[in-house]
Amino acid sequence: MVAEVIINSTVKTLNRTFDYNVPEDFFGTIKIGSRVLIPFGNSKNLEEGFIIGFKDKSEYKIKDIVKIQEGYDLTKENIELAKWMARKYFCNISDCIKMLLPPGTSTKIIDNRIKEKKLNFVYLKKTKEEIENDINQKKLKSDKQIRALNFLIENDECLTTDLEMFADVSRAILNTLVKNNYIEIIEKQVERNPFINKKIEETQDLKLTVEQQNAYDKIEKSIKNNEFNEFLLYGVTGSGKTEVYMQLIKKVLSNNKTAIMLVPEISLTPQMVNRFIARFGQEQIAVLHSKLSVGERYDQWRRIQNNEVKIVIGARSAIFAPIKSLGIIIIDEEHDSSYKSEMPPRYNAKEIASYMARKNNIPLVLGSATPDVTTFYKAQNNIIELLPLTKRANNSNLPTVSIVDLRDELANGNKTMISRALYEEIQTNLQQKRQTILFLNRRGYSTFVMCRDCGYTVKCKNCNITLTYHMKQNKLKCHYCGYEQDNVTICPECNSNKIKYFGTGTQKLEEAINKMFPQAITIRMDVDTVNKKNSHEEILNKFKDENIDILIGTQMVVKGHHFPNVTLVGVIAADGSLNIDDYRASERTFQILTQVAGRAGREKIPGKVIIQTYNPDNFSIECAQKQDYEKFYLAENNIRKQLKYPPYCDIILFGISGENEQEIIKTSNIIYEKLTQTIKDVNIFKPMPAPIDKIKNKHRWRIIVKGMVNDYIIDQINEILADMYKNKSSKARIVVDVNPTSMM
Ligand code: ADP
Ligand code: ZN
Ligand code: ZN
Repeated sequence: MVAEVIINSTVKTLNRTFDYNVPEDFFGTIKIGSRVLIPFGNSKNLEEGFIIGFKDKSEYKIKDIVKIQEGYDLTKENIELAKWMARKYFCNISDCIKMLLPPGTSTKIIDNRIKEKKLNFVYLKKTKEEIENDINQKKLKSDKQIRALNFLIENDECLTTDLEMFADVSRAILNTLVKNNYIEIIEKQVERNPFINKKIEETQDLKLTVEQQNAYDKIEKSIKNNEFNEFLLYGVTGSGKTEVYMQLIKKVLSNNKTAIMLVPEISLTPQMVNRFIARFGQEQIAVLHSKLSVGERYDQWRRIQNNEVKIVIGARSAIFAPIKSLGIIIIDEEHDSSYKSEMPPRYNAKEIASYMARKNNIPLVLGSATPDVTTFYKAQNNIIELLPLTKRANNSNLPTVSIVDLRDELANGNKTMISRALYEEIQTNLQQKRQTILFLNRRGYSTFVMCRDCGYTVKCKNCNITLTYHMKQNKLKCHYCGYEQDNVTICPECNSNKIKYFGTGTQKLEEAINKMFPQAITIRMDVDTVNKKNSHEEILNKFKDENIDILIGTQMVVKGHHFPNVTLVGVIAADGSLNIDDYRASERTFQILTQVAGRAGREKIPGKVIIQTYNPDNFSIECAQKQDYEKFYLAENNIRKQLKYPPYCDIILFGISGENEQEIIKTSNIIYEKLTQTIKDVNIFKPMPAPIDKIKNKHRWRIIVKGMVNDYIIDQINEILADMYKNKSSKARIVVDVNPTSMM
């Protein structure tokens, strides 16, 4: 018997199967998905690989498989998925297999050293009465010993380290107590789960509203009939989507099946997880999060693998959790860009979810208040089923949103970042001891050029996209079609010379606020202040619990948290995300403004939102003010249709990079030629330098293809790539990304 083996390597030329002989000893144990050790090439060390198929004989002279690695094998379905992904996302099968392995073991050396974390717990061996007796009879005299025992009477089963700290006793005291038979210390294995909670009060199903019930019934039908169906649960924040998810999961669990729920990384807060724990209990839930340590992720993974949990909640990669008998997949905030991976494999978790739901004959539920334009398009065209929730479930009101035209501010001599209206609202809020969030959308690094008098920004003449200022050549360029022009110093619309380069950061804003409101306590949250594990959480908790007046931050502030005392939200410059050079600029602006607005006045006191902008007439800002997604969708959809952007096509980006620019250009041209020869009916744009055309001394070129991805195109591209890799004369790195999150 001959096995087809994929070598565990990211080297592109090794992305094919190699034949190995299966010794008779392994008959019966070896299977598709087995992890094996094999001799390879001239290397003295054994390489690791995965069996992806068997055949009777090989046309080559082949070597024997040496060993089957125990404990880490994959299933046949895993291998099938990995192959499907590798083809679809133009990467090595081993890149995909990596996603399916337990955390910490995806490197070549299987790490058997990942040990369970063991901690020492202290238990009382005598009753409260016995101890009190001993104290009265002066059998126990040491203050420290008594203090430790009293602490234990209150808190039995506590960590030795906690006891030492809280009772302020040394380890020697504990040892004496052990010797005298008052306590025992037991080493126990614990889960290193940072979402561990003390008792959370159990919650019960709420009675669903008519709309919720309708959505529930439709999805439940699909559960009952064991059929694949994709749904869009579309409703504003607070419309009760989570309640519907929970009741659906409950239904699935009652059928002895399991659930995966994906949420954006940044929304995966203890608050969010606690709602599920309160409904389903800690034991049934595993949480997967990239901020967990390897050991913590490993623990969670193992619990899932051992069928100990029924619900997996996690960010993007949780879609690969080894859960069995899947009954439903839910993707909350489906519009979030974090579902797309920007590293190999460059997968989209929504596509993987759809694949798995299909394979398992189960429903896939996408939820959002501001759906991805592509998703809503599918819902409008009955490709997926639309389930709207139009009302807020808890009857709280939407905040009032007003727009401030920053051009008027300038005209009135206000050169600060804070408009008079916002200034006054902040002042009032400070007096009333209520909290304020100031949001500065400083996404990415793109510097844009704008006229401060009329708000004009320079756009590409071929695409509806803001040109990006390239400092080095002092030129404005379009990152989509390659169009470029000289930088402007005089506004072509109003002849003003007040042309500005925008790129104000949160740090500058915090300084300004501290000067304007010296009495206010502020806290800042952005990539510079958030770094340590859980620090995002810490800042938000601090803001909530410590009477901080003003939270200043980037889009990190907009998700996952509920701040009862926040009644004012100020958006410093809504234009920031409007001028990123991306066809999704309006969509992102609308989404983020809607989300920020949702932070204000979530309880009794009505909230106010002030959006400052130089483009008050821009439709995405207007629609966000009215919190009218459908109006936004109609306008945006028209633009996409006219200019041919997703959902009317896919954008396939070829990134070609390397140290030798001539070689990169040559490689780019070869690919371009091959593409134009083999693929018709799509728009293939000429190779050109990427917006950031050099990173770490590597030159970056790109080719953009606009067209609907189909099997034929995928096969052609894979063939071209295989051809390029075979031709080892080029050292260029080639990356193919479909609908990438960032176009830089
Ligand atoms: P979403 O997930 O859409 O933001 P949630 O499910 O969190 O909405 O619901 C918002 C609030 O409304 C929560 O406090 C929730 O407990 C409450 N809620 C949801 N559904 C109902 C219902 N059917 N009856 C009463 N309250 C509800
Ligand atoms: Zn102007
Ligand atoms: Zn263009």
